[in-house]
Amino acid sequence: MSRILAVVAYGILALTMLGRPAQAQQPQEQPAKPPPFATTKVEGTDNVYVFRYGNSQAMFVVTSAGVIATDPIGYGRPQAVTTYIDEIKKVTNQPIRYVIYSHHHFDHIAGGKPFKDAGATFIAHKRAKERLEQIKDPHTVIPDETVDNNRTITLGGTTLELIYLGLNHSDSTLLMLLPKEKIIFTVDWLPVGTLPGRGMIDFYPLEAEDSFKKVLAMDWERLIPGHPGRDGRLGTKKDVQDQLTFLQDASEAVKVAAREGKCWDAVEKEMKLPKYADWPNYDAAMPFVLRRYCGLWGRGT
Ligand SMILES: [Zn+2]
Repeated sequence: MSRILAVVAYGILALTMLGRPAQAQQPQEQPAKPPPFATTKVEGTDNVYVFRYGNSQAMFVVTSAGVIATDPIGYGRPQAVTTYIDEIKKVTNQPIRYVIYSHHHFDHIAGGKPFKDAGATFIAHKRAKERLEQIKDPHTVIPDETVDNNRTITLGGTTLELIYLGLNHSDSTLLMLLPKEKIIFTVDWLPVGTLPGRGMIDFYPLEAEDSFKKVLAMDWERLIPGHPGRDGRLGTKKDVQDQLTFLQDASEAVKVAAREGKCWDAVEKEMKLPKYADWPNYDAAMPFVLRRYCGLWGRGT
């Protein structure tokens, strides 16, 4: 009934507009594209910020004795790094004392030279340094200092713990914990409300489960991911648990298929996990996830 009324109403509207196209025929407005970068103070803190550039982000912490920055996120876009430094300067005059790498992948850590020129000390897990020294990427600063299992940085009254949980995404991931603020920053292995995509290329499925269990047992409330979470939100322990459940479901399904000889092609092309079909990047991400688990259960890798 209301639909018929609407059609009649639009008909009258079209007539009264004397040839101008009726509004109903206009293409629907697209949702506004987010600005190219943004700096956001984490709610409820005095000094913890998220710098997002494009689809990557990093945490920085401002203290009375200097700034602790993380990942430069400048792969193929040096302007991201200079923008990052300009954004820090907008909120503080303090010098940038540290840059801490989340892990060794270039999409997160390339481009750090302007931070180096500003006098920052670069810290990473020891395997990140070993790897970077082998590859010698011209755009990636080699860390000055390394962490083996744990290190605590105390600066201007802020404590930041750098924690190595073992193999998960890459062999060099540091989880960064602000114990007072109960915030963690860790990259690529704990997506918030989305599926892991290309990150699965360098992922240790069996060992990573340990890391998930360890992070669930730690004392924190909010997770800053290395790529914006679903709707731009921060993560919670529920997101970590959901991600673990997703990986376990994918793993179990592929294991059965692999033992029937269906890896790689049949699994990659045909397998679906409908429970997760409404996660934002389901179609793009699933082939990466299925390929990784075919590697495990169909080949032993
Ligand atoms: Zn990565």
